[in-house]
Amino acid sequence: MSRVCIYPGSFDPLTHGHLSLIHRGLKIFDALIVAVANNPDKVPLFSPAERMALIRGALGPDPRVEVDSFEGLLVDYAKRRGIHTVLRGLRAVSDFEFEFQLANMNRRLDPQFDSVFVMTGEDYFYISARLVREVARFGGEVTSLVPPNVREALERKRAEGVFSRKGSA
Ligand code: ADP
Repeated sequence: MSRVCIYPGSFDPLTHGHLSLIHRGLKIFDALIVAVANNPDKVPLFSPAERMALIRGALGPDPRVEVDSFEGLLVDYAKRRGIHTVLRGLRAVSDFEFEFQLANMNRRLDPQFDSVFVMTGEDYFYISARLVREVARFGGEVTSLVPPNVREALERKRAEGVFSRKGSA
């Protein structure tokens, strides 16, 4: 029986931290579903379709990874997919409290639900999508933080003036 896990997140945009987690996850699971959370209450920098395309583009063709998106509760999405295990990353102690709450809430909503926590490589633990957006917004160098296709997409957003619009990033 193959072991499949959902790796949910905003991925706005995909970073080397996320990629490191995907590669580590594939050592534990046979396949992963990278699930882009679409939260209609937030104004993301990249639309869900753009975020999915960036993930696909960065990973290249890999039959072990499916890229999908979902709206609403993660447990409902997981139930629909018939999967009860999610992969989450831990960076610092600061992530722990939120992840602990989330994992327990998800377990309360679905007793079968389990969360698997993985740490990124030490070169990546300080990277967050929020910081990447902040650095890119002011024209900082993001080469070491994101894959090349994401860097190019961030440059295009900057050229389009998206960063200066209210509510973005
Ligand atoms: P971010 O916090 O970067 O906006 P997401 O909401 O997309 O990221 O995060 C999805 C999951 O990936 C979360 O479990 C988060 O802790 C994890 N993650 C993101 N960046 C890293 C990183 N650099 N190292 C470890 N885990 C990470």
